Amino acid sequence: MDLEHLKTDLLILGAGGAGLFAALHAQKADPDLDITIVSKGLLGKCGCTRMVQGGYNVALNPGDSVERHFMDTIEGGKWLPHQELAWTLVTKAIERVQELENEIGCFFDRNPDGTLHGKAFAGQTFDRTVHKGDLTGIEIINRLMEQVWARPIRRLEEHRAVALIPSSDGALAGVLLIDVRSGKFRFVAAQAVLLATGGGPTMYRYHTPSGDKSMDGLAMALRLGLPLRDMEMVQFHPTGLLAGPDTRMTGTVLEEGLRGAGGYLLNGAMQRFMGDYDEKLERATRDVVSRAIYAEMRAGRTTPNGGVFIKMGHLGPANVVKQFKGMVDRCRDCGFDLAGGLVEVVPTAHYFMGGVICEVDTATECFGLFVAGEDASGMHGANRLGGNGVANSTVFGGIAGDAMPRWIAANPGFRAPDARLLDAEIGRALHPFAHQPGDLNALREKLLDSMWDEVGVVRDRASIERGIAAIDRIEAELLATGVADGSRQFNLTWHDWLNLRSLCEISRVIALAALKRENSRGAHFRSDFPEPGDLATSKFTVARHRSGGIEMTELPVAFTHVKPGETLLRASLAAE
Ligand SMILES: Cc1cc2nc3c(=O)[nH]c(=O)nc-3n(C[C@H](O)[C@H](O)[C@H](O)COP(=O)(O)OP(=O)(O)OC[C@H]3O[C@@H](n4cnc5c(N)ncnc54)[C@H](O)[C@@H]3O)c2cc1C
Repeated sequence: MDLEHLKTDLLILGAGGAGLFAALHAQKADPDLDITIVSKGLLGKCGCTRMVQGGYNVALNPGDSVERHFMDTIEGGKWLPHQELAWTLVTKAIERVQELENEIGCFFDRNPDGTLHGKAFAGQTFDRTVHKGDLTGIEIINRLMEQVWARPIRRLEEHRAVALIPSSDGALAGVLLIDVRSGKFRFVAAQAVLLATGGGPTMYRYHTPSGDKSMDGLAMALRLGLPLRDMEMVQFHPTGLLAGPDTRMTGTVLEEGLRGAGGYLLNGAMQRFMGDYDEKLERATRDVVSRAIYAEMRAGRTTPNGGVFIKMGHLGPANVVKQFKGMVDRCRDCGFDLAGGLVEVVPTAHYFMGGVICEVDTATECFGLFVAGEDASGMHGANRLGGNGVANSTVFGGIAGDAMPRWIAANPGFRAPDARLLDAEIGRALHPFAHQPGDLNALREKLLDSMWDEVGVVRDRASIERGIAAIDRIEAELLATGVADGSRQFNLTWHDWLNLRSLCEISRVIALAALKRENSRGAHFRSDFPEPGDLATSKFTVARHRSGGIEMTELPVAFTHVKPGETLLRASLAAE
């Protein structure tokens, strides 16, 4: 097999907020390090950071505090977050937003007095979501991309990571890649590797993340034997655009700020229904609003395409156009008038709270491997607050970029890859070329429906077991389905096949974790166990690949800053 060998000191997988921040920080920490960024798509054009609409949570303004941001994160996460990680997120977000403006060159919207404007986001007790209109991610990723371009950082764009390759002693030796353009394999040896491929629950019928995200990072980590936490926690955003089955725009998100600004939801019978589910109405957390919409759908009170409506017109169409230009344009492209009319929406799989277990400095259990962004877990627990996602990727990406050069200095040297494993991984990636081509799209559709119907917004034991059986069947069919053995250059069918394999593997872990958690917390709702259980003895799930299959365990949450029933806020402030 034609395998090219490359070498770099520090290898970063993923070019979203986490990957790009890591590269910039690492380059600043040690300009002599050879740094390489690998990205499945084109730099600046791929991943979800570019798609961030609403904004970035940070406690900057008078009346807000890191303690308040922290309590919102912990309570929103239903007491499951890793408290040290959540604390790091909220405290470092301040530094990171200032860095984004003062060093990276972003401009965010401001109040008349020059302070940063914070918009209202659901589930938060303060309007702290800093933004650039409603297209914040484009500002962040474009400026980050320019900074990376201006530095001697090597880029392997349109390269897909397929396996994390250890040395014989278990430490990480490097990463096996496919150059998507040429179809050739490359092994990149590295002293340290950052996994920042951004999760992305694209195995659901309705989903928001970018098409390049197919849980590859978590699938690779699982195969390496790393423990994955909170894998049952798939966040559904309540307001995915529902524009019919024939457009890829269906499922894309209409941002939370719409509800924050006073937009409300109507069912197909034109009744405002959120009052039947939560006193916070449309400003309840994402899980609550998603379940309410799902219940209306199950009761048959739906719109023509089977969802509910969002209405903004009562806020003044001109005002809506001014505040939410990107959303208004997106809806208009699909034939909807967001400013003055009604737009059909449906819950859509948006974010993955589960991921690789890591330390506060982003180190994982595997010597030489670090993780940041949506591939990492623990920061959000059972629910990610809107605005905490991009804060998470930039905060921990930067931390990884600071920590990895220090780690390399303390543990210098390259390690030889396990040659047997490297060969096996190449064989695994080439598997479809040894089989007769088949209908991959039909398999993908089956997976989307199985996950949506059986392991979706509401689950129970019977549905999850049906889901697992369906995933097993789909994966078995996939393994028997091939790809025509023609050119491997830009062979997107091959990559669809690989995407589907990662999605099947992680779908199974999601389902097994959902089976393990016999209570309902945040994004995970079991209709057969609808209660949250005792908060004081909260546990998080851990999935790990063992020779006999996936092993599921539970570990207690450590309440290192605050215990259930307590608050870090002074009584007068907490009551505000
Ligand atoms: C539509 C939308 C709107 C959002 N709005 C908000 C918001 O308003 N506020 C907020 O806080 N969060 C928001 N989020 C969430 C936020 O985008 C993510 O939390 C965050 O951007 C993730 O950053 P990341 O760096 O981990 O991953 P990403 O930015 O997704 O980057 C992942 C990178 O990994 C690469 N990659 C993937 N697989 C491979 C592979 N096998 N090999 C090599 N490279 C690979 C991708 O090409 C990409 O470069 C939104 C998400 C979506 C989808």
